[in-house]
Amino acid sequence: MGVTVYFLGAVIVALLGVWQSESFLYTSHECVANDGPFSCTYEEARDKFRAAITPFLRDANDMQSYPVSDEGLEIDIAYIGSKAPTGLVIHMSGTHGVEAHAGAGVQTDWLRKLSEGTGGKEVTEFIQPDRNVGIVFVSLLNPYGMKYGRRFNENSVDLNRNLLTDKQWESLKKSGGNAKKEYEQFDVPLFNPPRPAVWSDSWLTLPKALYYTVIYGVNTLKTAVVTGQYYNPKGIFYTGDKIQPSYQAVTDYFQNRSELFSNVRTTMIVDVHTGLGPAGIDTLMPDSDAVCNYFPGAPVCDSHASEATTEVAAGYELVWGTTSKLITALPLGIPGSHMHVCQEFGTVPGIMVVNALVLENMAYHYGTSGVSRETFQQGLRDAFYVRNDAWEELVRARGALVLEQAIVGVSKA
Ligand SMILES: [Zn+2]
Repeated sequence: MGVTVYFLGAVIVALLGVWQSESFLYTSHECVANDGPFSCTYEEARDKFRAAITPFLRDANDMQSYPVSDEGLEIDIAYIGSKAPTGLVIHMSGTHGVEAHAGAGVQTDWLRKLSEGTGGKEVTEFIQPDRNVGIVFVSLLNPYGMKYGRRFNENSVDLNRNLLTDKQWESLKKSGGNAKKEYEQFDVPLFNPPRPAVWSDSWLTLPKALYYTVIYGVNTLKTAVVTGQYYNPKGIFYTGDKIQPSYQAVTDYFQNRSELFSNVRTTMIVDVHTGLGPAGIDTLMPDSDAVCNYFPGAPVCDSHASEATTEVAAGYELVWGTTSKLITALPLGIPGSHMHVCQEFGTVPGIMVVNALVLENMAYHYGTSGVSRETFQQGLRDAFYVRNDAWEELVRARGALVLEQAIVGVSKA
């Protein structure tokens, strides 16, 4: 009886959510290309980034492009700043493909302001060739995901769970994932129904997600979602079974330029994401609590290394292989100490994000019936990119501030 009441409640809440939400499946407005820093497509984002960074490139080495998928989609990795940096910022966009709308917007916006002379004056000083700070921009780390509206890459891998050490690969091979038990409860019934997606899924999956959340608990769902899994290559949040081509590209870049980075003493990695938390509000999730000191004024700064204190950061205890391991899991050869912060901008309620992920993934692996795959791709874009001025303004402002705080922080190295 209790379960029935919960279920009916869940259905009502879900339907109200669908009705109220402007950015939910099928109710979004079209993305129209414009001159602003944000982009609708991979091609547009890439062109804008390249145009914005060009004034700062000193020679051909400063920007290198790496094809990472069969169709030759490329990652651009570019350097600006000191000729001999001791402080380094690595600013990353698009680790989760479709989430690149925000990260690429932040990069392009900041570079444009810098070349117009409207960026922070202090920061403009810091990155002069004779000063000590350099910035590596990793633009569209997962170009396939950005191009096709996927959170995962060309091998259906979640790049933010893929940076594993040999020992961790071994361990996952045995266990199937650090939260396999939790994930399996949701696997076939909710996350990965092994069949084509149909129209009714778009409104049935949401109450179903709420139903399973009530049955197994929101913490179990969150743990299953964020921890990822190793055993189902067609399932959402798959870690992959080896390091992905995108990371080979990053490795090649740093190894090619090892001389430039040989004096680095402190590195701060800033990886921009979307999809968790209140719309437009960013949660900083650093790899240690001490990193929060570099980012005064952040609405939320919560390390998931120790016990999480906020809702957004909760459930990360079992997570392995995030971009915080960029320098330890890959042979980049960057000397000195390093820190990492994930800047996560909220979009729509978490359960709707999961809903959109499930539908797009079903459509990708099993096709669709009676509705186009593009519909589900668009639904996923809408879950990770809230296309209105207010949201974009928050992302631009906070994205720029965190980048500048990272620059100031490593300049003291
Ligand atoms: Zn993400």
